[in-house]
Amino acid sequence: MIEVKDAKETKAGTDFVFGNPSFADHEQIIFCYDKATGLKAIIAIHDTTLGPALGGTRMWDYKSEAEALNDVLRLSRGMTYKAAISGLGLGGGKAVIFGDSKKDKTPEMFRKYGKFIESMNGRYITAEDVGTNTTDMVYIREMTKHVTGLPENMGGGGDPSPVTAYGVFMGLKAAVKESFGSDNLNGKKVMVQGVGHVGENLVRFVTEQGAKVYVADLNQEQLNATAAKYGAEIVSLDAVYDMDVDIYSPCALGATLNTENINKLRCAVVAGAANNQLADENIHGKMLTEKGILYAPDFLINAGGLINVYSELKGYDRKTAMEQSEKSTIQH
Ligand code: NAD
Repeated sequence: MIEVKDAKETKAGTDFVFGNPSFADHEQIIFCYDKATGLKAIIAIHDTTLGPALGGTRMWDYKSEAEALNDVLRLSRGMTYKAAISGLGLGGGKAVIFGDSKKDKTPEMFRKYGKFIESMNGRYITAEDVGTNTTDMVYIREMTKHVTGLPENMGGGGDPSPVTAYGVFMGLKAAVKESFGSDNLNGKKVMVQGVGHVGENLVRFVTEQGAKVYVADLNQEQLNATAAKYGAEIVSLDAVYDMDVDIYSPCALGATLNTENINKLRCAVVAGAANNQLADENIHGKMLTEKGILYAPDFLINAGGLINVYSELKGYDRKTAMEQSEKSTIQH
C-alpha cells in the first residue's frame, strides 16, 4: 500500500519519529493501547492552525509499526492540505488502528478508541476511512461527540463516499478538459483501480457519460459485481499500469505513482480518489509532468468526503455537501 522505504531508512531508536522523513512538522502524535480490547492505534495531528484536526480512522493489517506510522503521518499531512484548499476552517489529522477490519474489530475496541479521542478535548475529530464504517462511528459516538460520518438517522451524512466520488468525477472531467480541450467522456477509456466505496460510484458516473471503463480490485467478489453492474472490463492487478487508456484513476490505496509504474503509464490524465498517490512528491510529480501526463492532485479532487463530514458539524444537508464538493474541485 504505502512505500515503507522511508521508514526503513530511518535509524530506528534514534530518529524513528522526529527524524522520520514523513514527520513533516507534526504537532502531536498519540499512541493508544488497550490490552483488554487489543486496540493499538496512532492518532497524528499535523496542523491545527486553521482549526481542529479532522480526518478519518483507517483500520489496516499493517506489517510493521514503521509502516503504520509512515501511513498515518502521510495521511495526516494530506488532510491539512485538503482542509486548507477547501476553505473549511479545519486542521489536518488522521488515525490508524492496527488490525484486519474483517476479523479483528469489535464494538468494545471502538468504544475504547472513542475514549482516547474524548481525552483530546476536540483537538482531533474522527470519521470513517478504509476499513471503518458508519457502525464503527456509532460506537465511538457513545464515548465522544468528536466524531462525524454518523448514520443519517443520527443526524449524520452517512457514508461520505458518494460525495467523494462526485468530487473526483468533477475533478477528472476538469483534467480531461484541460488535456483534451473538452470534458466529453464519451468513448474515453478509463482505468479505475479499486472499486470499493468511492471507486464503484466513480465507475457509475463515468459509465453514465459513455466512457469505456476497465476495473481492477483485490476483492474478486466486489470486482465481479461492479463489472457486471456497469459493463466494465476486468483487468488483472498487474496489468493496470500497462493499459492503453486516456485516464488512470487510482481509487485503492496510496503511493501507486512510483518510478516503475509511471514509466509504464500510457494515459494523458491521472485523476483518482486515493490519498497520497505520489510515492515521492518531489520526484514523481515532476516525472509525470515530464511525461506529459496531467495529474489532478488527490487532496484537491477527493476533498468531497471531508466536505461531507465537515457539513455534519454545521447541520447536515447532502445537496449542499454535493454542491460544495463540486465548487471546491472546479474553482481550483
Ligand atoms: P474501500 O476500502 O471501500 O475501497 C478500496 C478498494 O481498493 C477495495 O475494494 C480494495 O479491495 C481495493 N484495493 C486495495 N488494494 C488494491 C490494489 N493493490 N489493487 C487493486 N485494488 C485494491 O475504500 P474507499 O472508501 O473506496 O477509499 C478508496 C481510496 O480513496 C482510499 O485511498 C481512501 O483513503 C481515499 N478516500 C476515500 C474517501 C471516502 O469518502 N471514502 C475520501 C477521500 C479519500
